[in-house]
Amino acid sequence: MSRGYNFAAGPAAVPEAVLRQAQAELLDWGQARASVMEISHRGKLFAELAAESECDLRSLLDIPGNYKVLFLQGGATQHFAQIPMNFARRDRIADYVVTGHWGEKAVREAWTLADVRIAANSDASRHTAIPARDTWTLHADAAYVHYTPNETIHGVEFQHVPDVGNVPLVADMSSDILSRPLDVRKFGLIYAGAQKNIGASGLVVMIVREDLLERCPKDLPKIFNYAEHAANDSMLNTPNTFGWYLASLVFKWLLGEGGLVAIGERNRAKAEHLYAGIDGSGGFYRNPVEPASRSWMNVPFTLFDEELNALFLKESEAAGLLALKGHKAVGGMRASLYNAVTLEAVHALADFMRDFAKRYG
Ligand code: PMP
Repeated sequence: MSRGYNFAAGPAAVPEAVLRQAQAELLDWGQARASVMEISHRGKLFAELAAESECDLRSLLDIPGNYKVLFLQGGATQHFAQIPMNFARRDRIADYVVTGHWGEKAVREAWTLADVRIAANSDASRHTAIPARDTWTLHADAAYVHYTPNETIHGVEFQHVPDVGNVPLVADMSSDILSRPLDVRKFGLIYAGAQKNIGASGLVVMIVREDLLERCPKDLPKIFNYAEHAANDSMLNTPNTFGWYLASLVFKWLLGEGGLVAIGERNRAKAEHLYAGIDGSGGFYRNPVEPASRSWMNVPFTLFDEELNALFLKESEAAGLLALKGHKAVGGMRASLYNAVTLEAVHALADFMRDFAKRYG
């Protein structure tokens, strides 16, 4: 069987060119005379890869010099806990904006570590809209404000970076990093699991303003301390070398595609095409999210008749459209349209959906 169009939410599609390159050099990488996964992370060759990947990411996101870039492990979930450990602690307020499942999870992990306050929560609307900024309750003395720019399950995405004044803004960008241009200067800290737009799971990329690292408590175990990771160039212990290597290929691929302006335009076109198909289906398909909060990356949708769900999944899979089953928290379907998902794939999905609606509507 051949490769299908992959709409998985994560781990998710990787650019085919990247997979081909990884395949071609799997046994014998560059000058190493061994696989990239078989060499020391402390050797010259891996150090060059690490430096070049950071340089490419800096260039993609135009990361200012006073930000550190870290390549960590643990998945975003570990950092839900590690962020309050480093920057808040029990006697400090940490404001959390909750717009879906992952924001809720971040709160749950932080709860025992910091004085967590919920600045806003869209649960009353079942996370179908971003709460207006003027309804948030923020604390000027908070250690940070945490939010989730794109909620992977609910399919809601901030279209602008919220203004939180001088309090450092912390963003879990696991499912939207590198999907469009971004002004890093507006953030204190950005973190993202790699398994959607960066490559393979097991790697977390973090971009953190240097002055914040001075707040990391000295009595934290080193392995949890971001300042220690930064001081050791993300090599406090053995990093996920293969994941880092894949990320380096993805960064090069993004640069070759024209960078984030070009990628952002492509992502906009993909999302608009799919939403237009859903909205124009005469009610056969429905996306519950208010249009201004709709995600470019994750598009949940339901069928007017739930009885058709199993058939939809069976037929779409047979047509080579993979992993469209929605998360159980919202039901129905979900198409994830990360960077590696092509416009061609989205057209194939929209065509299939139109045809399916014609046959069963
Ligand atoms: N945050 C967001 C926005 C996510 O989409 C996910 C995973 N889907 C996570 C956090 C958790 O990531 P991990 O499983 O790598 O810890």
